[in-house]
Amino acid sequence: MFSRWLLIITLLVPVSACAQTSKDVDINAILASAHSLYKMDKTGANADYIPALAEVDSELFGIALVTTDGKVYSYGDVEQRFSIQSISKVFTLALALEQQGADTVAEKVGVNASGMPFNSIIAIELNQARSINPLVNAGAMATMSLLDGNETTKWQRVASWYNEFANAKLPVLDAVYQSETETNDRNLAIAQLLKAHQRFYGDVAMNLDLYTRQCSIGVTAKDLAIMTAPLANNGKHPITNKQLMSEDNVEHLLAVMSTAGLYETSGDWAYKVGLPAKSGVGGGIIAVAPGQFSIAVFSPRLDSAGNSVRAQKAIDYIAEKLGANVF
Ligand code: GLN
Repeated sequence: MFSRWLLIITLLVPVSACAQTSKDVDINAILASAHSLYKMDKTGANADYIPALAEVDSELFGIALVTTDGKVYSYGDVEQRFSIQSISKVFTLALALEQQGADTVAEKVGVNASGMPFNSIIAIELNQARSINPLVNAGAMATMSLLDGNETTKWQRVASWYNEFANAKLPVLDAVYQSETETNDRNLAIAQLLKAHQRFYGDVAMNLDLYTRQCSIGVTAKDLAIMTAPLANNGKHPITNKQLMSEDNVEHLLAVMSTAGLYETSGDWAYKVGLPAKSGVGGGIIAVAPGQFSIAVFSPRLDSAGNSVRAQKAIDYIAEKLGANVF
């Protein structure tokens, strides 16, 4: 009797443990083929204006995707930690929208694409209204300055906000933070210039430091895909089921990502791939297929605009295979 049950259990367990729908199988296969298609692509180079970024292994390549029903798919180096860099701008903008309101962000920071490099100074000077996009350095630092709190409470709020999205406690990568702090003169100049135009809303040194810290937060590709999942799901986290943002603010955020997420090549990206996205010079890119999935890809070599070459190609391929273009 016992051995008959044992036989039935032995037969059943592998079947249920491996049960996959055909969609599961497709997504795994699509991620794997994107990885094998582009893993030999050596175009571009690591960022080196922040010295610590030049030391990251250029061959790393990880792809993670989270569906709006909370399934996580991944392939390659998805447990490797790297600095979030400019992808952080999305989450701090999300916090500012929730905390200060969409009108205040539009009025005090600005939401129009600059069409210029992420560290442009000329973009500030050419724009009479001093409207600066929250997804480039100037606007991101101004967005940080707009948040409530002193140095300690503001950082606690930012860190816990990121952790809510990641459903994990994210570390700051100290070597990256030190390296950027030592080479931060251009960002200091940008913040100071904004202050001169009354477009900065607090102490320059403190907010620059908080911005540098947020850029040094360490994430894996899997963390990033999980962090981005609420943006594909009307603000509700598909894994924790928490409503982190209002639906209206998700719409605002995705609009800015669509027009400015890849800096001066955002238009090319929209034309080609058609997904709201954001890149960082650490080599990550996130993208959102509203109502369907979030995706994050990490590979350190960048093109001349500062966007990961392999990540752009992998997302383009996967979005095409999954029919995700929003346009
Ligand atoms: N921390 C970087 C900087 O301020 C972020 C830039 C980026 O990822 N594009 O220059």
